Amino acid sequence: MRIGFGYDVHRLVTGRDLWLCGVKIPHELGLLGHSDADVAIHALCDALLGAACLRDIGYHFPDSDSKYKGIDSRVLLREVCRLLDENGYRLGNCDITICAERPKINPHIPSMQAELAQCMNCEPGRVSIKATTTEKLGFTGREEGISAYAVALIEPK
Ligand code: MG
Repeated sequence: MRIGFGYDVHRLVTGRDLWLCGVKIPHELGLLGHSDADVAIHALCDALLGAACLRDIGYHFPDSDSKYKGIDSRVLLREVCRLLDENGYRLGNCDITICAERPKINPHIPSMQAELAQCMNCEPGRVSIKATTTEKLGFTGREEGISAYAVALIEPK
């Protein structure tokens, strides 16, 4: 088996929807980005790509390309899974940590888990999602942005 790690950050701004793990979360701020800025899916994509030694999300889906403007990050995740499949791999398991001071993420975790499992065509038990605050410290603590970390194991099919 092979392991990969991913990390991403997006800025919180007014006038944008907040998408995390493919779920739209009610909040007065949303994440800014070329795509829907789903920071957790981006970290997961980088973990999966890293595990397969297939570069990173910016390499495959450059933000200079207008076809990715406003794109649903679930489309990117499905494409990453297709790339893994094409290269002879399937997901073992993944584990995501979202760092956000607000809003409360925990109530949304079961729906996020179901959403990602559907995108990756796997059992929800292979997809762990966790959330933490940073105790009001740093940019996440000041609610300037949200960060996410992910690790993924992949195995040969
Ligand atoms: Mg990103």
